[in-house]
Amino acid sequence: MVLDQPATPPTILLSVKLAETVDADLKLHGHDRERGGILLGLRRGPHLHIDEATLPMRWDIGTMFAFQRSSRGHKELALRRWRQSHKTIDWVGEWHSHPERFASPSSIDIRSWRAITRDRAAPMAFLIIGLERNWIGLCTPDRDAPIRYKEVERSKAGFAFQPAEAKP
Ligand SMILES: [Zn+2]
Repeated sequence: MVLDQPATPPTILLSVKLAETVDADLKLHGHDRERGGILLGLRRGPHLHIDEATLPMRWDIGTMFAFQRSSRGHKELALRRWRQSHKTIDWVGEWHSHPERFASPSSIDIRSWRAITRDRAAPMAFLIIGLERNWIGLCTPDRDAPIRYKEVERSKAGFAFQPAEAKP
């Protein structure tokens, strides 16, 4: 009997443009209230190429402890990109900020990520921006826990991330 092997987790590529957008937003608004949005990008072979992040919109609610993203606005932008890109650029993840030095997901984050990933039925990337250190990972529909990623390469175009630990 052959057991189904889960597919190798993709390498996550983040564009410099995305990092700059999020950085500028947090510099402007600070870390007191959580900020967040969705991640837009392409699934290309072994890569999940994340190119753009949406910023909080007026329907969203950010508090010291949570960021509640309304689907309004973000969803419209995701649909627009999907059409403009001839169905290649899609909603591939979410980001939000935490007012803590070393960002790590809360149990609420993990529950919400699991629901999003099951709903999308595809691997989704999740990014938390901390004061000193960010957290990035991937959720897949067949796993309950997110796979934590670490930075493996940095270039002028962006940052590459791979799973932090080898699979058990
Ligand atoms: Zn959180």
